[in-house]
Amino acid sequence: MAASIQIQKNKLHSVQRKHPWIFSGAIATDVSSLENGEVVSVYDHKNNFIARGHFQHATISVRILTFEDVNIDAAFFTAKISNAVEVRQKQNLFREDNNICRLIHGEGDGLPGLIVDFYNGVAVVQCHSIGMYQEVNLISEALRAVLGEELIAIYSKSSDTLRNDELEDGYLFGDCATPHRAIENEVQLNIDWNTGQKTGFFIDQRENRFLLGKYSKGKKILNTFCYSGGFSLLALQNDAALVHSLDSSKKAIALTDENIALNGFEDRHQSIVADAMEYMKDLKEDYDIIILDPPAFAKHRNKRHKAIQGYKRLNAHTIRQIKPGGIIFTFSCSQVIDKALFTNTIIAAAIESKRNVRILEQLHQPADHPINAFHPEGEYLKGLVIQVD
Ligand code: SAH
Repeated sequence: MAASIQIQKNKLHSVQRKHPWIFSGAIATDVSSLENGEVVSVYDHKNNFIARGHFQHATISVRILTFEDVNIDAAFFTAKISNAVEVRQKQNLFREDNNICRLIHGEGDGLPGLIVDFYNGVAVVQCHSIGMYQEVNLISEALRAVLGEELIAIYSKSSDTLRNDELEDGYLFGDCATPHRAIENEVQLNIDWNTGQKTGFFIDQRENRFLLGKYSKGKKILNTFCYSGGFSLLALQNDAALVHSLDSSKKAIALTDENIALNGFEDRHQSIVADAMEYMKDLKEDYDIIILDPPAFAKHRNKRHKAIQGYKRLNAHTIRQIKPGGIIFTFSCSQVIDKALFTNTIIAAAIESKRNVRILEQLHQPADHPINAFHPEGEYLKGLVIQVD
């Protein structure tokens, strides 16, 4: 039997609107004896059942898994995962020329705290809550039941996200040598979940890389914050004349070089190890297209002001120096900076650089990173394609 907690009467509105988080301040029960990660049943002040979820001693006390009175068991996970896979099948993401996608995107797929990325037969599981981590064996069974023959291996990687060095990352099922070859929109990629950032690759930029491809023919392009070179590869695949990829991490540049070689693009590519914030102050060359895809400058609301200054500076330097008619793909993956604030920041950068700027495209996270309509916090990636006259 799951432990029970009660919600204060005046704090019910959020959960009644199906928001999947319960904050510590909303709980009426003494929770001091509860264990991190245990499943709890949530009731209103009249003892009516409301929801069931994972408990944690934290600001977000409960991550809701269901608003129905059902058990959190193998059948539960199998149904959720099966539904999420169906959603990706509808998006036509399992193809010969594309076998990378996000299978489970936390709240967006009704499984708060769980990320599963799929790389050509390998599922990489990343947990963001202790409760979800404790379910990894059930999750692994469910993935096997749903994906069957499609699945070569399942790798569990949560020591980073749960900030716990004692957790062991490793295979829950099968085994797969790394780097593992996978393909995104016709481009070959080496993926290494062991040593790479996050689950090994930034899947969320797939559609935006594809869009860059349409602008790339014959162009000279600078891809900053390139990580393993995703944007560079799509540009080169689509006949870019020359691409420079820049990252401050030598390891990231080594991954980029590997991927460039894998696709035979070496003769139109050059790598640069540098701090992008410094590099963009004084650009050495003229570019037709520049990509700015920095890591989240603000992870918390209290860092938002400083982050905005950072985005503004980076974009102002770029707008000031790009050649006339040049195009900038600019992004922010800071969840606390919303679309309107990001757009206003780019406008402020344009004003500061005294050049005329047109917004051509408004970009966002792809459909395999869905947003739960009752959890607007799930929207995090936004971008603009701008043309500078
Ligand atoms: N655009 C990438 C993902 C970017 S992730 C893709 O399509 O896959 C952010 C990258 O920024 C990381 O690779 C990180 O090493 C790099 N980075 C962080 N700070 C940096 C800085 N000051 N200058 C250059 N690169 C930086």
